[in-house]
Amino acid sequence: MSGVSVQFPVTHNTKSNLANVDWDNLPFGKIFADHMFVMEYANGAWKQGEILPFGPIAMHPAMSAIHYGQSIFEGMKAYRNQSDEVVLFRPELNARRFTESAARMCMPELPEEIFLEAVKQLVALDAAWVTNKPGYALYIRPFMFATDEFVGIKPSDTYKFVIISSPVGAYYAEPVRVKIEEHYTRAAVGGVGRAKAAGNYGASLFPAKQAQQQGFHQLVWTDAKTHTFIEESGTMNIMFVINNTLITPSEDSDTILRGTTKRTVLELAASWGIPIEERPVTVEEIITAAKNGTLQEAFGAGTAATIAPIAIIGYRDEKIELPALETREMSLKIKTFLHEVKSGAIEDTHHWVQKVC
Ligand SMILES: *Cc1c(COP(=O)(O)O)cnc(C)c1O
Repeated sequence: MSGVSVQFPVTHNTKSNLANVDWDNLPFGKIFADHMFVMEYANGAWKQGEILPFGPIAMHPAMSAIHYGQSIFEGMKAYRNQSDEVVLFRPELNARRFTESAARMCMPELPEEIFLEAVKQLVALDAAWVTNKPGYALYIRPFMFATDEFVGIKPSDTYKFVIISSPVGAYYAEPVRVKIEEHYTRAAVGGVGRAKAAGNYGASLFPAKQAQQQGFHQLVWTDAKTHTFIEESGTMNIMFVINNTLITPSEDSDTILRGTTKRTVLELAASWGIPIEERPVTVEEIITAAKNGTLQEAFGAGTAATIAPIAIIGYRDEKIELPALETREMSLKIKTFLHEVKSGAIEDTHHWVQKVC
């Protein structure tokens, strides 16, 4: 299968759930659009993909993904713009990252044009699920998992690639309280932190739960070896503004997920002439800057929330309050710009937006 002109066969869902959705009380990620995309891999090749009614997937009890964790995913969003078109934001970056995650997990490469076509055709079919309510979007979840029926550790010979989608509202209602984690580790050099591999998220639940019991929303992960360098925040990349310079941990090691939102923020800031430093960032310098007042802003960057301002940083026994939200000029300007590009309020001079229908 090659080329982008492939039209995937569709089995229509005759029992749409759309009319039952309570748009004003939408839980994150629990309601799903009417269709899903499914494509199988066997005998060294991808088979014909198809769009089916959303529903359960049959599973053999020995299916290797649930035993040994060959399972990866992506997260992206479709938006409805002011011209009533449904658009995606830089989906080619998700397609590429999916192939990189697959390679790290010994899973077959999915051609990027197939990934993109599958997302676009699925979203076009369920376009009625993309609302123009402010802050809302259709969250898209492509994933791939190993399906060999075999209780033995080796790369699976068979896989399933599936895409589901879920209408969502604003992700974080309030500015986040984060805690700097100095014991547990999200990713180590040589590990799988750069891949969006399922196990990374399962492993983070225990330390994240402890932080939540202490009143925080999420953790700031530090490097596995010394716990003195800042890496990410929860499932977002982390960015700081000190002395009007945008600072974020560099991605040289394979411990940091290469986020499309962070990349976009950096490109945008560069185009505006904002000084940027992508380099190792120490816990010490951030705590010092927070205490002496030079830390102007801190925020998480990711598809779910776009920009999530950090209100409080917990460090050992201290809770350090960051400047008031109204003063966060840079992140507010970035957030507004990204929102306006997606909604079509301003011209997409960076060519980030792709029209679905
Ligand atoms: C998905 C993810 C991000 C954010 O990536 P985006 O492409 O911006 O959504 C950051 N960190 C981790 C650990 C992630 O899983």
